[in-house]
Amino acid sequence: MNYKGRLGRAITALDAGHASVLLVTHLPNIRYLCGFSGSSGVLVIAKQGAVLFTDGRYRQQAHDEVKGVRVSIGRKPALLMAAEWLQQHSSDHSSGSRIGIEAAHMSVADRNSLAKALPRGFKLIATVGVLERIRVIKDPDEVARIRKACHLGAELFRGLLKTLRPGVSEAQVAGALEFAARKAGAEQMSFPTIIAGGTRSALPHGRASDNSIPGRGFVVCDFGVILAGYCSDMTRTVHVGLPATAAREAYEAVREAQQAAVEAVRPGVTVGEIDGAARKLLQNKRLGKFFTHSTGHGVGLEIHEAPRVAAGQKEVLQPGMVITIEPGIYMPGKWGVRIEDTVVVTETGCEILTPCPKNLLTL
Ligand code: ZN
Ligand code: ZN
Repeated sequence: MNYKGRLGRAITALDAGHASVLLVTHLPNIRYLCGFSGSSGVLVIAKQGAVLFTDGRYRQQAHDEVKGVRVSIGRKPALLMAAEWLQQHSSDHSSGSRIGIEAAHMSVADRNSLAKALPRGFKLIATVGVLERIRVIKDPDEVARIRKACHLGAELFRGLLKTLRPGVSEAQVAGALEFAARKAGAEQMSFPTIIAGGTRSALPHGRASDNSIPGRGFVVCDFGVILAGYCSDMTRTVHVGLPATAAREAYEAVREAQQAAVEAVRPGVTVGEIDGAARKLLQNKRLGKFFTHSTGHGVGLEIHEAPRVAAGQKEVLQPGMVITIEPGIYMPGKWGVRIEDTVVVTETGCEILTPCPKNLLTL
């Protein structure tokens, strides 16, 4: 992982935002910049260098993981240690009083205690998305990790099909999948596994419940693993028993919409246009109003990150971006269908990272 390059990009972005220091409190951003995967810490980045503040529980872990920044272990809350450090080093540089904070990742209480701990003359600047914008483009190491996580996901889906039977609870199916994921090396799941059978398939986020898989109907399976820090994400919808004509047609419509959006992915196209490619196809089949969410999202250290692949979004695709393509339609009280792949934008189009058939599987 090129931590030095990432730190350099972060400092350049800080300059552009007119702050001289950034207090990084969002843990995925800390992991991105220096490799630290502990659950408590604050990273201060400044032109003079970067320091990670954490406590004694993470001494060994920080020693093993952190690259390119100094580590400071203390007994006080990391935020207060960072404030003291800023105070001590403020005389080193005249512009040190403009401190960027991650507005989306700091509580009001933390902001207030930070402001109290800093001497007069220090100004806190609310920044949004400084590091997230850098993280949008994945470097080759990151793409390799996401690919590995996604391939594991696709492999786990084949195993999932063996446990998915009428009468078995959704939670049992999810549990077997998650156990297999851990055995295969996953750190954890990317998000609570969705196994939603029968009428529950109409819930776009139907977490696996105690309900049994019905004798007939769709089952939406949406899950991901975290492998070496990076998330995978995929959805396949299968049908138990013989599907009715309307259900079969709906499935085909979603499959075609998903395929159209995947085929539209290439550098220079906006994410709004990708959403439009899927949506237009469903609208033409009078199914547009049942497609109630956006087409996808970025994936990386976090399961949902920039960009949002949604109507009207102007972000332009560039090589190295990793996004999901996941249109779905939901008939409340009846059934739902969603198909999702994770793809990486290449120089000429995209590579599907979740290799798994998308024709309608009937169990
Ligand atoms: Zn998903
Ligand atoms: Zn997703």
